Amino acid sequence: MENCIFCKIVAGEIPSPRLYEDDKIIVIKDIEPKAKLHYLCIPKVHFAYLSEMDEARAEIVKHCFQTIPKIAKDLGLEDGYRVIINQGVNGGQAVLHLHIHLLGGEVLGGF
Ligand code: AMP
Ligand code: ZN
Repeated sequence: MENCIFCKIVAGEIPSPRLYEDDKIIVIKDIEPKAKLHYLCIPKVHFAYLSEMDEARAEIVKHCFQTIPKIAKDLGLEDGYRVIINQGVNGGQAVLHLHIHLLGGEVLGGF
């Protein structure tokens, strides 16, 4: 998708070291971390919103949720972590390419 920052990162047009990559997703460090550890799990295919779910996209999101706990384990987050999807304007979604936040490395505040 043109002018999508995460598509550009997936394509390697914007350099961003990958903590993890496979055929469906990449995991990168958030550029403005909101916790001691803050990573983003980004599907390689572009779609903007959780609300645009279909079978193929659901498979990808499922894969994200199967991969994130493994990454969290590798990061040593056995005491817990937080996973967030921001949806739409009221949800605070700034980048319109679906992504899942993984936050941890400290005791996180409540909402
Ligand atoms: P959201 O508000 O859920 O759309 O979150 C977007 C996230 O992407 C924010 O936490 C930003 O700090 C992060 N972000 C924006 N640009 C980049 C980038 N080039 N590399 C890594 N993270 C980014
Ligand atoms: Zn995109």
